[in-house]
Amino acid sequence: MRARRPRRKWKVAVLGATGAVGQTFVRLLADHPWFELTEVAASERSTGKRYREATRWLEGQMPASVAELEVKSCDPSGVSAPIVFSALDSSVAGEVEEAFARAGKLVLSNARNFRMAPDVPLVIPEVNADHLALIDTQRMHRGWSGAIVTNANCAATVAAVALAPLHQKFGLERLFLTTMQAVSGAGYPGVASLDILGNVIPYIADEEPKLEREMLKLLGRMEDGAVVNGTFAVSAQTNRVAVEHGHTVCISAAFHDHPTPEQALSALRAWTGAESTRSLPSRPEQTLAVTDETDRPQPRRDVDAGKGMTVTVGRVREDTILDLRMVALGHNTIRGAAGGSVLNAELLAATGRLPEA
Ligand code: NAP
Repeated sequence: MRARRPRRKWKVAVLGATGAVGQTFVRLLADHPWFELTEVAASERSTGKRYREATRWLEGQMPASVAELEVKSCDPSGVSAPIVFSALDSSVAGEVEEAFARAGKLVLSNARNFRMAPDVPLVIPEVNADHLALIDTQRMHRGWSGAIVTNANCAATVAAVALAPLHQKFGLERLFLTTMQAVSGAGYPGVASLDILGNVIPYIADEEPKLEREMLKLLGRMEDGAVVNGTFAVSAQTNRVAVEHGHTVCISAAFHDHPTPEQALSALRAWTGAESTRSLPSRPEQTLAVTDETDRPQPRRDVDAGKGMTVTVGRVREDTILDLRMVALGHNTIRGAAGGSVLNAELLAATGRLPEA
Protein backbone atom coordinates (compact mmCIF):
# COMPACT_ATOMS: atom_id res chain seq x y z
CA MET A 1 0.00 0.00 0.00
CA ARG A 2 1.28 3.50 -0.83
CA ALA A 3 1.33 5.88 2.11
CA ARG A 4 -1.14 8.73 1.67
CA ARG A 5 0.72 12.05 1.68
CA PRO A 6 -1.33 14.85 3.19
CA ARG A 7 -1.95 18.00 1.15
CA ARG A 8 -1.21 19.95 4.32
CA LYS A 9 0.61 18.83 7.45
CA TRP A 10 -1.42 17.68 10.45
CA LYS A 11 -1.00 19.96 13.46
CA VAL A 12 0.14 18.02 16.51
CA ALA A 13 0.77 18.71 20.21
CA VAL A 14 3.13 16.99 22.67
CA LEU A 15 2.01 16.50 26.30
CA GLY A 16 4.92 16.06 28.72
CA ALA A 17 7.09 17.84 26.15
CA THR A 18 9.74 18.87 28.68
CA GLY A 19 10.76 15.32 29.74
CA ALA A 20 13.17 12.79 28.18
CA VAL A 21 10.58 11.25 25.83
CA GLY A 22 8.89 14.62 25.23
CA GLN A 23 12.18 16.09 24.01
CA THR A 24 12.66 13.12 21.69
CA PHE A 25 9.23 13.88 20.21
CA VAL A 26 10.26 17.50 19.73
CA ARG A 27 13.43 16.42 17.86
CA LEU A 28 11.64 13.83 15.69
CA LEU A 29 8.78 16.17 14.81
CA ALA A 30 10.99 19.17 13.98
CA ASP A 31 11.27 18.30 10.27
CA HIS A 32 8.54 15.74 9.92
CA PRO A 33 7.07 15.54 6.41
CA TRP A 34 3.47 14.94 7.60
CA PHE A 35 3.21 16.54 11.06
CA GLU A 36 3.78 20.06 12.36
CA LEU A 37 4.38 20.51 16.08
CA THR A 38 2.37 23.58 17.06
CA GLU A 39 1.72 23.12 20.80
CA VAL A 40 3.62 21.79 23.81
CA ALA A 41 2.23 21.09 27.28
CA ALA A 42 3.58 19.92 30.63
CA SER A 43 3.00 20.26 34.39
CA GLU A 44 2.18 23.37 36.42
CA ARG A 45 5.93 23.76 37.00
CA SER A 46 6.37 24.58 33.31
CA THR A 47 3.02 26.10 32.30
CA GLY A 48 3.21 29.69 31.03
CA LYS A 49 6.98 29.59 30.42
CA ARG A 50 8.64 29.55 26.99
CA TYR A 51 9.62 25.97 26.06
CA ARG A 52 13.33 26.89 26.17
CA GLU A 53 12.95 28.24 29.72
CA ALA A 54 10.94 25.28 31.01
CA THR A 55 13.16 22.59 29.51
CA ARG A 56 16.58 21.28 30.48
CA TRP A 57 17.42 20.32 26.87
CA LEU A 58 19.36 17.06 26.82
CA GLU A 59 20.70 16.38 23.29
CA GLY A 60 21.95 18.54 20.41
CA GLN A 61 20.22 21.84 19.58
CA MET A 62 16.66 22.62 20.56
CA PRO A 63 14.67 23.22 17.33
CA ALA A 64 14.18 26.99 16.94
CA SER A 65 10.57 26.50 15.85
CA VAL A 66 9.70 25.14 19.30
CA ALA A 67 11.96 27.16 21.61
CA GLU A 68 9.61 30.15 21.82
CA LEU A 69 6.33 28.22 22.13
CA GLU A 70 4.52 28.86 25.39
CA VAL A 71 4.12 25.69 27.45
CA LYS A 72 0.42 24.99 27.94
CA SER A 73 -1.30 23.04 30.67
CA CYS A 74 -2.47 19.52 29.86
CA ASP A 75 -6.08 20.58 29.50
CA PRO A 76 -7.86 19.65 26.26
CA SER A 77 -9.82 22.92 26.21
CA GLY A 78 -6.57 24.85 25.72
CA VAL A 79 -5.03 22.59 23.04
CA SER A 80 -6.29 22.94 19.48
CA ALA A 81 -4.24 20.28 17.63
CA PRO A 82 -6.38 17.22 16.75
CA ILE A 83 -3.47 14.81 17.27
CA VAL A 84 -1.71 14.61 20.60
CA PHE A 85 1.46 12.72 21.46
CA SER A 86 1.64 11.93 25.16
CA ALA A 87 4.96 11.59 27.00
CA LEU A 88 3.30 12.07 30.37
CA ASP A 89 4.31 10.47 33.59
CA SER A 90 1.98 7.56 34.33
CA SER A 91 0.84 9.21 37.58
CA VAL A 92 -1.17 11.70 35.48
CA ALA A 93 -1.39 10.08 32.04
CA GLY A 94 -4.57 8.08 32.77
CA GLU A 95 -6.78 11.02 33.63
CA VAL A 96 -5.27 13.46 31.12
CA GLU A 97 -5.24 11.10 28.12
CA GLU A 98 -8.83 10.09 28.78
CA ALA A 99 -9.88 13.77 28.91
CA PHE A 100 -8.21 14.41 25.53
CA ALA A 101 -9.82 11.35 23.90
CA ARG A 102 -13.20 12.40 25.29
CA ALA A 103 -12.62 15.85 23.74
CA GLY A 104 -12.23 14.19 20.32
CA LYS A 105 -8.43 14.11 20.13
CA LEU A 106 -6.41 11.22 18.79
CA VAL A 107 -3.98 10.43 21.62
CA LEU A 108 -0.76 8.49 20.99
CA SER A 109 0.38 7.43 24.42
CA ASN A 110 3.69 6.24 25.83
CA ALA A 111 2.38 5.62 29.31
CA ARG A 112 1.40 2.27 30.77
CA ASN A 113 -2.10 3.28 31.90
CA PHE A 114 -4.22 2.09 28.94
CA ARG A 115 -1.90 -0.42 27.29
CA MET A 116 -3.69 -3.54 28.51
CA ALA A 117 -7.27 -2.27 28.16
CA PRO A 118 -8.97 -4.74 25.79
CA ASP A 119 -10.32 -1.94 23.58
CA VAL A 120 -7.04 0.01 23.31
CA PRO A 121 -4.51 -0.91 20.61
CA LEU A 122 -0.95 -1.64 21.79
CA VAL A 123 0.91 -1.23 18.54
CA ILE A 124 4.30 -1.78 16.94
CA PRO A 125 3.33 -1.16 13.30
CA GLU A 126 5.59 -3.74 11.66
CA VAL A 127 4.51 -6.41 14.20
CA ASN A 128 0.76 -5.93 14.70
CA ALA A 129 -0.56 -3.10 12.50
CA ASP A 130 -3.94 -4.88 12.33
CA HIS A 131 -4.51 -4.25 16.08
CA LEU A 132 -5.35 -0.63 15.18
CA ALA A 133 -8.82 -1.92 14.30
CA LEU A 134 -9.53 -1.85 18.07
CA ILE A 135 -10.10 1.89 17.71
CA ASP A 136 -13.59 1.20 16.34
CA THR A 137 -14.46 -0.99 19.34
CA GLN A 138 -13.00 1.63 21.68
CA ARG A 139 -15.13 4.42 20.24
CA MET A 140 -18.22 2.28 20.44
CA HIS A 141 -17.55 1.15 24.05
CA ARG A 142 -16.49 4.48 25.43
CA GLY A 143 -18.71 6.74 23.37
CA TRP A 144 -15.94 9.17 22.52
CA SER A 145 -14.99 10.50 19.12
CA GLY A 146 -11.28 10.63 19.89
CA ALA A 147 -9.13 7.57 20.54
CA ILE A 148 -6.17 6.31 22.54
CA VAL A 149 -3.46 4.30 20.79
CA THR A 150 -0.55 3.11 22.90
CA ASN A 151 2.96 1.91 22.26
CA ALA A 152 4.61 -0.67 24.46
CA ASN A 153 7.07 -0.56 27.31
CA CYS A 154 10.50 0.16 25.80
CA ALA A 155 12.06 -3.21 26.68
CA ALA A 156 8.94 -5.08 25.55
CA THR A 157 9.18 -3.29 22.19
CA VAL A 158 12.75 -4.53 21.65
CA ALA A 159 11.84 -8.10 22.64
CA ALA A 160 8.64 -8.13 20.56
CA VAL A 161 10.37 -6.96 17.37
CA ALA A 162 13.10 -9.59 17.85
CA LEU A 163 10.61 -12.38 18.55
CA ALA A 164 7.77 -11.55 16.13
CA PRO A 165 9.33 -13.34 13.12
CA LEU A 166 10.09 -16.43 15.24
CA HIS A 167 6.68 -16.51 16.92
CA GLN A 168 4.93 -16.13 13.55
CA LYS A 169 6.88 -19.04 12.07
CA PHE A 170 7.62 -21.41 14.94
CA GLY A 171 5.10 -20.60 17.72
CA LEU A 172 6.54 -19.34 21.03
CA GLU A 173 5.89 -21.57 24.02
CA ARG A 174 8.22 -20.42 26.82
CA LEU A 175 10.25 -17.26 27.14
CA PHE A 176 12.88 -15.89 29.52
CA LEU A 177 13.87 -12.24 29.19
CA THR A 178 16.71 -10.57 31.08
CA THR A 179 17.19 -6.87 30.39
CA MET A 180 19.99 -4.36 30.81
CA GLN A 181 18.21 -1.01 30.56
CA ALA A 182 19.69 2.43 29.94
CA VAL A 183 19.39 5.28 32.40
CA SER A 184 17.44 7.44 29.92
CA GLY A 185 14.66 4.88 30.35
CA ALA A 186 14.05 6.38 33.79
CA GLY A 187 13.37 9.87 32.38
CA TYR A 188 15.04 13.07 33.51
CA PRO A 189 16.65 13.55 36.05
CA GLY A 190 15.97 9.84 36.57
CA VAL A 191 18.39 7.70 38.61
CA ALA A 192 20.90 9.63 40.75
CA SER A 193 24.42 9.41 39.30
CA LEU A 194 25.84 8.08 42.59
CA ASP A 195 23.36 5.21 42.44
CA ILE A 196 24.14 4.12 38.90
CA LEU A 197 27.76 4.97 38.04
CA GLY A 198 29.83 1.76 38.15
CA ASN A 199 26.72 -0.11 39.22
CA VAL A 200 23.88 -2.39 38.20
CA ILE A 201 20.51 -2.02 39.93
CA PRO A 202 18.56 -5.30 39.75
CA TYR A 203 15.16 -3.65 40.16
CA ILE A 204 13.03 -1.32 38.03
CA ALA A 205 9.67 -0.57 39.61
CA ASP A 206 6.78 -2.45 37.93
CA GLU A 207 8.93 -3.26 34.88
CA GLU A 208 8.88 -7.06 35.07
CA PRO A 209 5.07 -7.42 35.20
CA LYS A 210 4.75 -4.84 32.38
CA LEU A 211 7.10 -6.82 30.19
CA GLU A 212 5.40 -10.12 30.98
CA ARG A 213 1.87 -8.94 30.22
CA GLU A 214 2.63 -6.67 27.24
CA MET A 215 4.50 -9.40 25.31
CA LEU A 216 1.32 -11.48 25.27
CA LYS A 217 -0.80 -8.66 23.82
CA LEU A 218 1.84 -7.42 21.36
CA LEU A 219 2.25 -10.90 19.88
CA GLY A 220 -1.47 -11.69 20.12
CA ARG A 221 -3.71 -11.94 17.05
CA MET A 222 -6.83 -10.06 16.02
CA GLU A 223 -9.93 -12.23 15.93
CA ASP A 224 -13.53 -10.98 15.56
CA GLY A 225 -12.59 -7.42 16.48
CA ALA A 226 -10.60 -8.34 19.61
CA VAL A 227 -7.00 -9.22 20.42
CA VAL A 228 -6.47 -12.81 21.50
CA ASN A 229 -3.36 -12.72 23.67
CA GLY A 230 -0.44 -15.06 23.09
CA THR A 231 -0.53 -18.11 25.37
CA PHE A 232 3.22 -18.60 25.85
CA ALA A 233 4.77 -18.41 29.34
CA VAL A 234 7.00 -15.38 30.04
CA SER A 235 9.44 -14.71 32.85
CA ALA A 236 11.29 -11.37 32.94
CA GLN A 237 14.16 -9.99 35.02
CA THR A 238 15.00 -6.32 34.55
CA ASN A 239 18.17 -4.39 35.47
CA ARG A 240 19.15 -0.73 35.25
CA VAL A 241 22.73 -0.34 33.97
CA ALA A 242 25.11 2.59 33.44
CA VAL A 243 24.34 3.02 29.72
CA GLU A 244 22.96 6.30 28.35
CA HIS A 245 20.58 4.98 25.66
CA GLY A 246 19.63 1.47 24.52
CA HIS A 247 17.94 -1.45 26.23
CA THR A 248 19.63 -4.82 25.75
CA VAL A 249 17.50 -7.94 26.17
CA CYS A 250 18.96 -11.45 26.57
CA ILE A 251 16.37 -13.91 25.34
CA SER A 252 15.99 -17.69 25.83
CA ALA A 253 12.98 -19.26 24.18
CA ALA A 254 11.25 -22.56 23.46
CA PHE A 255 9.03 -22.95 20.38
CA HIS A 256 6.37 -25.40 19.30
CA ASP A 257 8.40 -26.27 16.17
CA HIS A 258 11.87 -26.35 17.84
CA PRO A 259 13.79 -24.34 15.19
CA THR A 260 17.54 -24.73 14.79
CA PRO A 261 19.66 -21.55 15.00
CA GLU A 262 20.02 -21.68 11.19
CA GLN A 263 16.25 -21.81 10.70
CA ALA A 264 15.79 -18.99 13.21
CA LEU A 265 18.42 -16.84 11.49
CA SER A 266 16.83 -17.35 8.13
CA ALA A 267 13.38 -16.40 9.52
CA LEU A 268 14.83 -13.28 11.18
CA ARG A 269 16.63 -12.22 7.99
CA ALA A 270 13.60 -12.82 5.78
CA TRP A 271 11.16 -10.87 7.98
CA THR A 272 10.18 -7.44 6.73
CA GLY A 273 7.16 -6.64 8.89
CA ALA A 274 3.65 -5.57 7.91
CA GLU A 275 3.30 -4.55 4.27
CA SER A 276 1.16 -1.52 5.23
CA THR A 277 4.17 0.08 6.94
CA ARG A 278 6.62 -0.08 4.03
CA SER A 279 6.47 3.54 2.93
CA LEU A 280 5.92 5.26 6.27
CA PRO A 281 8.45 8.09 6.73
CA SER A 282 9.77 6.94 10.13
CA ARG A 283 10.03 3.28 9.22
CA PRO A 284 13.69 2.32 8.93
CA GLU A 285 14.92 0.37 5.95
CA GLN A 286 15.42 -2.56 8.31
CA THR A 287 13.14 -2.86 11.31
CA LEU A 288 15.20 -5.86 12.40
CA ALA A 289 18.92 -6.15 11.64
CA VAL A 290 20.80 -9.38 12.30
CA THR A 291 24.47 -9.13 13.19
CA ASP A 292 26.95 -12.01 12.81
CA GLU A 293 29.63 -10.31 14.93
CA THR A 294 30.39 -12.48 17.95
CA ASP A 295 30.31 -9.56 20.40
CA ARG A 296 27.34 -7.54 19.12
CA PRO A 297 24.83 -5.93 19.51
CA GLN A 298 26.29 -3.30 21.83
CA PRO A 299 24.54 -0.07 22.87
CA ARG A 300 27.54 2.11 22.03
CA ARG A 301 27.89 0.70 18.52
CA ASP A 302 24.38 -0.29 17.49
CA VAL A 303 21.84 1.86 19.30
CA ASP A 304 21.57 4.44 16.50
CA ALA A 305 20.98 1.89 13.72
CA GLY A 306 18.16 3.11 11.45
CA LYS A 307 18.22 6.49 13.27
CA GLY A 308 17.28 4.65 16.47
CA MET A 309 14.36 2.77 14.86
CA THR A 310 16.14 -0.52 14.05
CA VAL A 311 16.28 -3.36 16.57
CA THR A 312 19.55 -5.29 16.25
CA VAL A 313 19.67 -9.00 17.05
CA GLY A 314 22.80 -11.09 17.47
CA ARG A 315 24.31 -14.17 19.09
CA VAL A 316 21.50 -16.40 17.83
CA ARG A 317 22.47 -19.83 19.04
CA GLU A 318 21.21 -23.07 20.51
CA ASP A 319 20.13 -23.00 24.14
CA THR A 320 21.12 -25.80 26.49
CA ILE A 321 17.69 -25.87 28.18
CA LEU A 322 15.19 -24.32 25.73
CA ASP A 323 15.55 -24.14 21.91
CA LEU A 324 17.30 -20.84 21.23
CA ARG A 325 19.02 -17.90 22.87
CA MET A 326 19.92 -14.53 21.44
CA VAL A 327 20.52 -10.86 22.31
CA ALA A 328 18.42 -7.91 21.09
CA LEU A 329 19.05 -4.19 21.40
CA GLY A 330 16.93 -1.12 20.64
CA HIS A 331 16.85 2.61 21.37
CA ASN A 332 14.51 3.14 24.30
CA THR A 333 13.48 6.77 23.76
CA ILE A 334 13.25 6.42 19.95
CA ARG A 335 12.00 2.96 18.87
CA GLY A 336 10.80 2.24 22.42
CA ALA A 337 8.96 5.54 22.87
CA ALA A 338 8.68 8.72 20.75
CA GLY A 339 9.78 7.21 17.41
CA GLY A 340 7.40 4.28 17.88
CA SER A 341 4.56 6.69 18.64
CA VAL A 342 5.28 8.83 15.57
CA LEU A 343 5.31 5.65 13.46
CA ASN A 344 1.91 4.71 14.94
CA ALA A 345 0.56 8.13 13.92
CA GLU A 346 1.95 7.67 10.41
CA LEU A 347 0.20 4.31 10.18
CA LEU A 348 -3.05 5.94 11.29
CA ALA A 349 -2.56 8.56 8.59
CA ALA A 350 -1.69 6.03 5.89
CA THR A 351 -4.74 3.92 6.71
CA GLY A 352 -7.09 6.92 6.57
CA ARG A 353 -7.75 7.05 10.33
CA LEU A 354 -6.73 10.68 10.88
CA PRO A 355 -9.08 13.60 10.28
CA GLU A 356 -8.31 15.72 7.17
CA ALA A 357 -5.18 17.84 7.72
P1 NAP B 1 10.23 12.39 32.42
O1 NAP B 1 11.53 12.75 31.80
O2 NAP B 1 10.14 12.31 33.90
O3 NAP B 1 9.10 13.42 31.88
C1 NAP B 1 7.80 13.44 32.43
C2 NAP B 1 6.96 14.53 31.75
O4 NAP B 1 5.66 14.51 32.37
C3 NAP B 1 7.50 15.96 31.92
O5 NAP B 1 7.27 16.68 30.75
C4 NAP B 1 6.66 16.52 33.07
O6 NAP B 1 6.49 17.94 32.98
C5 NAP B 1 5.32 15.85 32.79
N1 NAP B 1 4.51 15.80 34.00
C6 NAP B 1 4.83 15.28 35.21
N2 NAP B 1 3.81 15.47 36.09
C7 NAP B 1 2.83 16.13 35.41
C8 NAP B 1 1.55 16.64 35.75
N3 NAP B 1 1.04 16.52 37.01
N4 NAP B 1 0.81 17.27 34.79
C9 NAP B 1 1.30 17.42 33.54
N5 NAP B 1 2.54 16.98 33.16
C10 NAP B 1 3.28 16.34 34.08
O7 NAP B 1 9.72 10.95 31.91
P2 NAP B 1 10.00 10.22 30.49
O8 NAP B 1 11.10 9.26 30.63
O9 NAP B 1 10.04 11.25 29.42
O10 NAP B 1 8.69 9.32 30.36
C11 NAP B 1 7.44 9.83 29.93
C12 NAP B 1 6.45 8.68 29.77
O11 NAP B 1 6.93 7.79 28.77
C13 NAP B 1 6.28 7.84 31.04
O12 NAP B 1 4.94 7.40 31.14
C14 NAP B 1 7.22 6.66 30.80
O13 NAP B 1 6.86 5.51 31.51
C15 NAP B 1 7.07 6.46 29.29
N6 NAP B 1 8.20 5.83 28.59
C16 NAP B 1 9.48 6.27 28.79
C17 NAP B 1 10.52 5.68 28.06
C18 NAP B 1 11.95 6.12 28.22
O14 NAP B 1 12.83 5.47 27.60
N7 NAP B 1 12.26 7.17 28.97
C19 NAP B 1 10.24 4.67 27.16
C20 NAP B 1 8.92 4.25 26.98
C21 NAP B 1 7.90 4.86 27.70
P3 NAP B 1 7.38 18.98 33.86
O15 NAP B 1 8.75 19.03 33.22
O16 NAP B 1 6.63 20.25 33.71
O17 NAP B 1 7.43 18.44 35.26
